[in-house]
Amino acid sequence: YKSFTDYMFEGPLAALDALSLCCVGASGKLSMTLSGAPENLLRHPLPVALAVLDAQGQWLDGNTAARTIFTGELAAALASSAFQALQTLTDGPRRVVQWIEDGAHGSYECSLTLLDGADEDNAAAGLLSLVPAGQDAGRFDDTRQRAIEQVTGADLWDWDLKSDRLRYAPGSHSVIGADLGREMRVGKHYAERVHPDDRAVTLASMTDFLRSGEGQFQAEYRIRHADGHWVWVLARGQVVAWSKRGKPRRMLGSHFDITDYKLLELRVREREALLRHAERLGDTGVWAWDPQRQQMWCSQGFLHICGRSEADAPKDPDALAEAVAEASRSEFRRALAGLRVGGKAFALSLQLQRPDDSLREVQIRCEALRGPHGEIERLLGVLHDVTDRMEREKSERIRNEMLDRVAQVGRIGGWEIDVPNQTLIWTEENYRIHGFPVGCPVSLDSTRGMYEGHSREVFENAYARMMRGEREEDTIEVQFITPAEERVWLRITGRMELRGGKPFRITGLTRDITAEREASERIEQLAHYDTLTGLPNRFRFRELAARVISQARQNGGVVALLFLDLDRFKPINDSLGHEAGDQLLLDVAGRLRASVRSGDIVARQSGDEFLVLLRDLKRAEDAGRVSRKIIDSINDPFELGEHSVNVGCSIGIALLNDTNPTLEQLLRAADTAMYAAKEGGRNAFQFYSDAFYDRVQRKLVLEQELRQAIARGELSLAYQPTINLQDGDLRGIECLARWTSADGESRSPTEFIPIAEDCGEIHALGRWVLTQACMQAAAWHRAGMGFERIAVNVSAIQLRDPDFAAAVIDICEETGWPSDRLELELTESALMRDSEVLRRAFSLFEARGVSLSVDDFGTGFSNLHYLHRFPVKHLKIDRTFIQHLLTDPQMGRLCEAVVGLGHALRLRVVAEGVETEDAAVRLRQLDCDEAQGYLFARPMPAEELEAWYR
Ligand code: C2E
Ligand code: CA
Ligand code: CA
Repeated sequence: YKSFTDYMFEGPLAALDALSLCCVGASGKLSMTLSGAPENLLRHPLPVALAVLDAQGQWLDGNTAARTIFTGELAAALASSAFQALQTLTDGPRRVVQWIEDGAHGSYECSLTLLDGADEDNAAAGLLSLVPAGQDAGRFDDTRQRAIEQVTGADLWDWDLKSDRLRYAPGSHSVIGADLGREMRVGKHYAERVHPDDRAVTLASMTDFLRSGEGQFQAEYRIRHADGHWVWVLARGQVVAWSKRGKPRRMLGSHFDITDYKLLELRVREREALLRHAERLGDTGVWAWDPQRQQMWCSQGFLHICGRSEADAPKDPDALAEAVAEASRSEFRRALAGLRVGGKAFALSLQLQRPDDSLREVQIRCEALRGPHGEIERLLGVLHDVTDRMEREKSERIRNEMLDRVAQVGRIGGWEIDVPNQTLIWTEENYRIHGFPVGCPVSLDSTRGMYEGHSREVFENAYARMMRGEREEDTIEVQFITPAEERVWLRITGRMELRGGKPFRITGLTRDITAEREASERIEQLAHYDTLTGLPNRFRFRELAARVISQARQNGGVVALLFLDLDRFKPINDSLGHEAGDQLLLDVAGRLRASVRSGDIVARQSGDEFLVLLRDLKRAEDAGRVSRKIIDSINDPFELGEHSVNVGCSIGIALLNDTNPTLEQLLRAADTAMYAAKEGGRNAFQFYSDAFYDRVQRKLVLEQELRQAIARGELSLAYQPTINLQDGDLRGIECLARWTSADGESRSPTEFIPIAEDCGEIHALGRWVLTQACMQAAAWHRAGMGFERIAVNVSAIQLRDPDFAAAVIDICEETGWPSDRLELELTESALMRDSEVLRRAFSLFEARGVSLSVDDFGTGFSNLHYLHRFPVKHLKIDRTFIQHLLTDPQMGRLCEAVVGLGHALRLRVVAEGVETEDAAVRLRQLDCDEAQGYLFARPMPAEELEAWYR
């Protein structure tokens, strides 16, 4: 196997035309030709037979050896094979085609190549070499070959595809071990040693390559070394000989051990992946610049932050500056210049502009790395993308600020108790609410002692309930004494969080409700005490009396109610003036108190009417004796300034007994008896003697009739408008039940509603009223009547029905009346209850926009808590307050307080029972929102209301 250089420097070849070079192997086969003009070659005394053929494969010329072979039958066979080979050579003119020509004359290995230097008129087309078959063994026996292998570290191989034999060059087993021997079948021995994971790919790429055989084959795969371990090889190969039919016939190639390189590559890949992960985790990226080679390297993370692909990565630091947003570009450039020239490290916060123009906030740090002689070897930069963090921080800040503002505006403090550690944390507003300097240390123990006596108990109980797991959420109202010794009322709501079933944290809100409390106390005072005499008023009296009565029922004892009305008060008031009148009432109150025992209750009913409840009497007659004493004491003259006046009084007495078992009945009975006393001549008292059983009887009859009233169509509704006091517009329409029985007698709801409540008929009646009301409202709406809401009175009994709320919504849907234009009027007593049924009902109402109004507001409450709890929208000041609005200054103050409270809680205030223009004017002054009453319209049938509206 000799390269052409051998021939080049051996004497005979020098004789050849320098351009007509031809390689002939030691075996005598042609490897390649370089150019035409074979004449010289033929004259060279080669041991190989060489023949020049024409395009048809016919003999043109040949050397001596060839002449002896190219005879007779063999010449014909060779010509036809050569012709075939020449055809395939048109596809690959540089190829060498090899075949074996067998015959009786012997067997020859033939190699044919094109003579591409041949000119047009020269018929010479191919050069054929002939070697007796089986003489080419030992192709690798060459010391130089071994030297090449030692130097390159590669194994050289020679693969004969026809016989599928692979031969290694002698001694070349450094890569895959010696046991492969010198020769083996590729399909059987070699391919099986390829790593199973690589086998298919390698074979496929070889098959693919052999389809054309053009160019160079190259593959990387693992192969098992003779001693068992895997070796990564780089296999390279080239087709060096072709069959007559143009198929690759022989390949030469090398195996190169790339195991170390592969491991290195693997490690580099792993590190790259790690770097990528780390960069992604930290939102960082890295770049480096090699000033010597002018090369820029950018990590994946860096490209990601810059929003760029590998292809448009910055090519140098200047290009990097281009990616910096306009505003900070020159600053970056300056810093970069300092880094490049003086190696001055820098750190900057700036914005990067991505190709899509979006901006990223980044922190960039750059440094110069120096070589052993102090020269700058690398510039290195690390980029940290802080956009997301900054956005998070920003939105967090905005949220916190907003929460603070909201808390400030709403005067809502926040707090948290860490139960296991017993620590307490307050928000700023909570400090302010408690009157503490913001930020000073607080603890459960230090604040505990600052609750006012009873409140402390309330607080401790609520806390204990929560710790015992009885309540998850709780709201208490307590009085707190600030460090400045101010008393504030706080509404504290807390919610317990459990962890692992154990109390873990209580979080809550604090609201300062001092103003609200004060308003409610003031209203309470105004509503329950008579400011003139200081006596309980009729509402307070009812509360106190109810207690006495229930005690008397339990413990026995005679209870008597005296209803006292002054005689001749009006003329005195008219002639001596209001001040004198007031003085007189005050004095009367004093004498009354003086006439009874301290356990008895004296109250002012209204104007010149007083109530006295006597308790623990021995006999009924004692009530008469006390009455006599009172009359006597009132009969003594009163000194009003320079005037001395005489007044008298009449007293009606009712005894608590089976005839009058309730306060209401007592009141009615005493009132009746008082009239009887007046009729019987003044300055007297009169016991009530009654027709109680008549009433019981009547009630039973009514109950009976009421049960049929709906079915018989005896019920109807009267409608009474509510007017906007500012512009006189129609706002709401209240529905009031009317009952006209078969005999034409009409009954007041004040009579039949309590009966309906007693006998349970209220549920059917209430549903009927609701349905009628919604139907009528829908009809009016269709007819173009402009109003805001339809209001229906609802009894406390109805509210206790768990299905009530759903029924209300159903009725709205059935009648097509929007639920957010329906209002339910409830009394305070109905709202005071706090049951699960009620809460669920109200949350459904809230969800569907059904509004609530508090009817007869001011007559029965003690705590306004419910106003927060339930979706209340209107307060209706009780009729009796309005009736005395102009005569009793206290009522003016009361109404004012109610309006103030209502507005503070964003409720609208409605005055009931407005009968006079003067009252309306006064209410307007008091800033009351709406009014209802005979002044504007009486309750009336639907048709009349339409006419009224028109
Ligand atoms: P209320 O809800 O306070 O209704 C207002 C009452 O005041 C009505 O009496 C009305 O006729 C009367 N009124 C309106 N304007 C004036 C005025 O300027 N001066 C005076 N003196 N009175 C005025 P009514 O219709 O006799 O109803 C009495 C009570 O019966 C109602 O008081 C309400 O509590 C109850 N009620 C009426 N209809 C129903 C109903 O369908 N269901 C329930 N549960 N209760 C009803
Ligand atoms: Ca009402
Ligand atoms: Ca009312």
